[in-house]
Amino acid sequence: MTPQDQRVKRKVRILKNSRLRKVRYELRTLHFLLFENRKRALRLEISEVRADHSINYDGRREKLKKLLKERNDLILSFSQHPINCSMCGNREGDLIFRLEDHVWVCYNSERCRQRVELHVQEVQRLLKNRERKLNSLINLD
Ligand SMILES: [Zn+2]
Repeated sequence: MTPQDQRVKRKVRILKNSRLRKVRYELRTLHFLLFENRKRALRLEISEVRADHSINYDGRREKLKKLLKERNDLILSFSQHPINCSMCGNREGDLIFRLEDHVWVCYNSERCRQRVELHVQEVQRLLKNRERKLNSLINLD
C-alpha cells in the first residue's frame, strides 16, 4: 500500500502551514522531554527501592510492582501518541499510525516504515526477556 493509499484509507491530514508545523514540533518536543524526565525519575526510584534494605521484602516487592506498572503505562501511553517517529525519532515531520504495529512512523520515509517490522520483533523479544528477568528479581515465578 502506497503512502497515498494509506492517507486516503486512514484520512491522514498533512499539516502544510509552516507556522502550525513549528507549533506542532514545539508541543511534541515538550511532551517528549516530559516523558524522558518522568522515565528517568522512575528508573532512579526503581534503583533506590531495589537497594533499600530498610524496607522488608514484601514492602519492596509492592513498591517495585507499582513503579514498574507506572513505567510500563508511561511507555505504552507515549507510544500511542504522535510525538515522534518510533524508528528515527523525528518530531518535525508528518507521522502515520501503523495500526497493525501500534507505532507512529514518518509518513514520507520508506526506510522508517520498512524498519517497523524488525523493530516490533526486537521489542517483543526484549519485553519477554525483561518480563522474565523482572519476575525472577521480584520472585513472582
Ligand atoms: Zn522516521
